[in-house]
Amino acid sequence: MSNFEFDLFVIGAGSGGVRAARMAAGFGARVAIAEDRYMGGTCVNVGCVPKKLYVYAAQYGKGFHDARGFGWESEQPHFEWATLRDNKKTEISRLNLIYRDLLGGANAQIIDGRASIVDANTVAVGNKHYTTEKILIATGGWPHIPDFEGSEYAVSSNEIFDLKSFPQRLVIVGGGYIAVEFAGIFNGLGAQTTQLYRGPLFLRGFDADIRAHAAQEIRKRGVDLRFEVNVQTITPDGENLKVRLTDGSELQADAVLYATGRKANLEGLGLENVNVRISEHGAVTVDEAFCTSEPTIFALGDVTGGIELTPVALAQGMAFARSNFGSLEQQVDYDFIPTAVFCQPTIGTVGFTEEEARAKFGDIRLFKSSFRPMKHTLSGSDEKAFMKIVVDANTDRVVGVHMMGPDAGEILQGIAIAMRAGATKALFDTTIGIHPTTAEELVTMREPWTES
Ligand code: FAD
Ligand code: NDP
Repeated sequence: MSNFEFDLFVIGAGSGGVRAARMAAGFGARVAIAEDRYMGGTCVNVGCVPKKLYVYAAQYGKGFHDARGFGWESEQPHFEWATLRDNKKTEISRLNLIYRDLLGGANAQIIDGRASIVDANTVAVGNKHYTTEKILIATGGWPHIPDFEGSEYAVSSNEIFDLKSFPQRLVIVGGGYIAVEFAGIFNGLGAQTTQLYRGPLFLRGFDADIRAHAAQEIRKRGVDLRFEVNVQTITPDGENLKVRLTDGSELQADAVLYATGRKANLEGLGLENVNVRISEHGAVTVDEAFCTSEPTIFALGDVTGGIELTPVALAQGMAFARSNFGSLEQQVDYDFIPTAVFCQPTIGTVGFTEEEARAKFGDIRLFKSSFRPMKHTLSGSDEKAFMKIVVDANTDRVVGVHMMGPDAGEILQGIAIAMRAGATKALFDTTIGIHPTTAEELVTMREPWTES
């Protein structure tokens, strides 16, 4: 046993930090974990969990409407923001306690407070210093709002969940995951929602057909989705905010949500005291084993600027703990990571976009289908689902599946397993569908799509 107080000191009790701490402690390591804000990190407190609860809330709005076609008559229901917000708070407090218990149960010592690195083997929290053989930086990310006149009136995803009153008119800036998801949430809850994206088509990085289909469906749902436009200034105007846009127009809003990306959370971390390299994008640079340029200091999760998803941070936390404190050297396999954008309807995607596959494999075959989900034959909704399969023509291997439609996230989780197992299009074709579902379309698309 070393002379240090701890074998591992984890900074940040978010998805990656908690998983690494629990597993390392389970392997017998003496572990401390510092958290200054909330147990469970971004995902539990201001990310995946409250977001998904709000998505469910938003879906009811349309659900009540759709139900009429199925014979349900009711008074027009109205939405109570305070009920959702406060019920969410109660649930998150419950989860915070569960995280605390899980760490305590694993024998990791929880240290409440903001940690900063003093030297390669010492961490300070408040005025106490702790010595440790290894330090793990798992401090996650923080919303980035660009600097412009009136930027102080904008809120980020950190604040949006807990607004005092419901924003009847909401302007959302950005065209990534958060902007698209929150446009769906607030539109579904009944806010007049305007989403502004600076480029010609939002959701950069997703398959082009999905991006176009998403724009169409999101507009159909009532979001005022505008491209090639940005905010110039925000000024207070009585109780309202006046939002001046780059095209010269103006919007009145109750709130402006900036969802313009996140930056590594390194504030006050004491990195100036050690030799940890930072990338040009401001993230901690690590190798495949999560080692920084300071041999006793490691980093994982969002703070490393990779794929910013909870299951990725969890996988990294597990691999780190196994490699450093277990008996098994383990690396994370980043192939075919599925992901969903919880807009309405949901986008699910795994593997290469058409553009990426063409560049990588050359010869590809495409299968596309757009159809009205069965539920909407009676609901009266004109919502359309879209599915696309990308196949490497030389091997017949399915290398990309993209969809927008009901339960896309649930459907693509299973498809990701098949794709990681190397499933070919022929195998998809010989798989018998589950009828009647939306998902069965994925095993019944036979005709390769050709440009007409
Ligand atoms: P975090 O979870 O951010 O944890 C870092 C922790 O470190 C925080 O608790 C912070 O308080 C603490 N900390 C920071 N500095 C210090 C310090 N100096 N001392 C002590 N503690 C410190 N991902 C998905 O997979 N699916 C989703 O649906 C999804 N939805 C999202 C929705 C939103 C609105 C946001 C913002 C993110 C979402 N994400 C989602 C991304 C996901 O939340 C992150 O990828 C994940 O939380 C990263 O985990 P992490 O451990 O790297 O960091
Ligand atoms: P993203 O990186 O996904 O999107 C940021 C958006 O903001 C882009 O559209 C970008 O435009 C735009 N933007 C950046 N700077 C400016 C600016 N100065 N002015 C106007 N627009 C700007 O970040 P998010 O904040 O949406 O989310 C952060 C990460 O969190 C995501 O990447 C994802 O990994 C994770 N997340 C995952 C979720 C899930 O799994 N469902 C849900 C929510 C978040 P451009 O494309 O032109 O650069």
